[in-house]
Amino acid sequence: MKSYRKELWFNTPTRRAFINITPQVEQAVKESGVKEGLCLVNAMHITASVFINDDEPGLHQDFERWLEELAPEKPYSRYNHNLTGEDNGDAHLKRQIMGREVVVAITDGKLDFGPWEQIFYGEFDGKRPKRVLIKIIGE
Ligand code: ZN
Repeated sequence: MKSYRKELWFNTPTRRAFINITPQVEQAVKESGVKEGLCLVNAMHITASVFINDDEPGLHQDFERWLEELAPEKPYSRYNHNLTGEDNGDAHLKRQIMGREVVVAITDGKLDFGPWEQIFYGEFDGKRPKRVLIKIIGE
């Protein structure tokens, strides 16, 4: 069995962002040489997500508004977590909703997506270097 590990780094200029990382994951699959297997992609931080959905700007605006309704960034005093001196209580909750990781099947050397599926990095507390882990196993 082959095994391949790679980290992607991000430093978004804004606190929140959605980034399509499908090309980077496809590149990692190529580098791995795996033709049949599984590809795990996970955020390595507890205020960021990796998820699969459509690459459609209106949908991303809907995510942003929905997440702000559920867990607004401000007032910071709303969150017990921020009593520690942090200001990212909202980001932890947003990450929990949007998820930590995705697993995609690799078939014939390619990510075996359903229609319109793309992989996104969801940043909820950016403006600092953060990582995504890609782990690929198979033959
Ligand atoms: Zn925190």
